[in-house]
Amino acid sequence: MVGDVPVGGGAPITVQSMTITKTADHEATLQQIYALAGAGADIVRCTCNKPDAAEGLARIVPRSPVPIVADIHNNHRMALAALDAGVHCLRLNPGNITDPSKIKLIAQEAKDRNVPIRIGVNGGSLDSSLYDEEKGVTPEAMVESALREISYFDEVGFDLVKISVKASSVPLMIEAYRQLSEVTDYPLHLGVTEAGPPPAGLLKATAGIATLLAEGIGDTIRYSLTADPVEEAKAGRQLLEALGLRERKNVDLIACPSCGRAEIDVYKIANDAMAAFEDKKLPLQVAVMGCVVNGPGEARDADLGIAAGNKRGHLFVKGVNVAVVPEDEMVDQLVEWANFLHEEGVEATMARAESTRDVARKAAEEDRARNLDERGDDANASEAAVELIRKR
Ligand code: SF4
Repeated sequence: MVGDVPVGGGAPITVQSMTITKTADHEATLQQIYALAGAGADIVRCTCNKPDAAEGLARIVPRSPVPIVADIHNNHRMALAALDAGVHCLRLNPGNITDPSKIKLIAQEAKDRNVPIRIGVNGGSLDSSLYDEEKGVTPEAMVESALREISYFDEVGFDLVKISVKASSVPLMIEAYRQLSEVTDYPLHLGVTEAGPPPAGLLKATAGIATLLAEGIGDTIRYSLTADPVEEAKAGRQLLEALGLRERKNVDLIACPSCGRAEIDVYKIANDAMAAFEDKKLPLQVAVMGCVVNGPGEARDADLGIAAGNKRGHLFVKGVNVAVVPEDEMVDQLVEWANFLHEEGVEATMARAESTRDVARKAAEEDRARNLDERGDDANASEAAVELIRKR
């Protein structure tokens, strides 16, 4: 348990992020913690590098909406101060505090308070003795670093442990976690460290974290992005929702890639819809489709969607046309119907569409026929190109 949040043991996978404010500035840090929690973080880490940061934690912890982990750097006294501040978890880097007596002292104090510790091995700051022994940063060296720390904890009978073996190289971190999962049952905290700015950072972090989660490895995750930490929390949450590992809280927007049949700028409408749904907590799959010929059919499994027609949009719920709306109101109407669907349910939404359904269906058929008439069966001219190739 990290505070009241279970980690491991079959509990839902959790999302973590980290504040970038000075922890001593407790008001600014709390504001960021609230923003992170709102974006999907279940647990938040704050740095505890100096005595004034520990004092900040003492003010932050009682007011935080989520459990707080204190990140300890080189000074073991900061770990003890963070425990005094009442934090819910410590993060120790075995490469930074290497004196076994200090490690055992922290573990003993944490044990007395029933506070867990994350052993946070980091490829970039691996214990230098292991670096020399293993001739560099290898998965074996990272796993060994974690096991060594556990052996110190064992000496004082402390076992409230979770472990991370992060690296900025995706293949390296994947292999390190795979090896670690073979030798320990402790919960694992996944991450690609220093992944960098989005979109490359998002891709790297996702590649590493998702690969391991798909293998059943990992209990809690953090995206380490060079970006506003709110983006980290959102990314973590979205990944877990996409993998079906957490219940959907926000809109899952799907959109067609657009093609020669599109009757609208699909990219623009999809981005406008994404922005409009951004802060709405609607656990729905919403589709934006470029034409009514294939759109409603291709997105029939979505909860709700809109397909472009002739200067108008065709709204559909579970593949059934429910209304026709002017083109410049497509996004507003989509949001309005999504709210209604979420609050009232499918039956009530269908009942609402009782008087408009026939008109909507006929209008969709009209636009469908017109699109096919104007653009033919081969709107992308693929078959014409194939013919040309065959003639050569
Ligand atoms: S056929 Fe229609 S729905 Fe499919 S990609 Fe083209 S525009 Fe989008």
